[in-house]
Amino acid sequence: MLIAGNWKMAKGPSEAAAFCRALREADLPDDVDAVVCPPFTSLAEAVQTLAGTEIGVFAQNCHWEREGAFTGEVSAPMLRELGVYGTIVGHSERRQWFGETDETVAKRAGAALADGLHVIACVGETEAEREAGETEAVLRRQTAVLEADDNLVVAYEPVWAIGTGKTATPEMAHEAHEVIKSVLDVPVLYGGSVKPDNAAELLAQGAVDGALVGGASLDVDSFVAICRAASHS
Ligand code: PEP
Repeated sequence: MLIAGNWKMAKGPSEAAAFCRALREADLPDDVDAVVCPPFTSLAEAVQTLAGTEIGVFAQNCHWEREGAFTGEVSAPMLRELGVYGTIVGHSERRQWFGETDETVAKRAGAALADGLHVIACVGETEAEREAGETEAVLRRQTAVLEADDNLVVAYEPVWAIGTGKTATPEMAHEAHEVIKSVLDVPVLYGGSVKPDNAAELLAQGAVDGALVGGASLDVDSFVAICRAASHS
């Protein structure tokens, strides 16, 4: 089980360090891989504070070129140099607000994997797509551009469930994960309003291999509670 905390645009370096110090002290279950995904400016602090632990530090995005004229972007070798272990790509907020497409997500994932980073690639349908009966087609399309890799994990994040307090039912998550796995044989995380009180039920689904957690990962007790709920599931 992998539990990844996506901090989005929250926690500068000092808050990140305080969180990671507390996480170091927490009693995390041995059968759960915990990962934090701070914003770029807090990555170094997180890597240093978590050094010597099993807790991985992931970025939230990564460019496909190693260097060049790409203002505002950060590359895989830069992340590797900091000691970052992996990166999220294709989060729906990037697709929605920053022009990310299936093609750029695939390029980002491919380059990060080629440079030795682990990747969590996000896919998921919008509410309108679900209502129009397009969920399966969207998931197939978004997943098909990715290439299987031992270091690739897909996160199924229904856009209508992110930060909204709405979650997919465990059955909906299971069904979507089965679609993704039929296209690409990789572990699949569920993301979308995962909280300590709904994590166990979602994670108990056979095709759910972990969770990508936004809001509830910002508080260390709540993040640790989700990691505990994931244990033995
Ligand atoms: C996310 O941002 O990846 C996410 C799932 O957010 P939340 O848990 O807040 O819905």
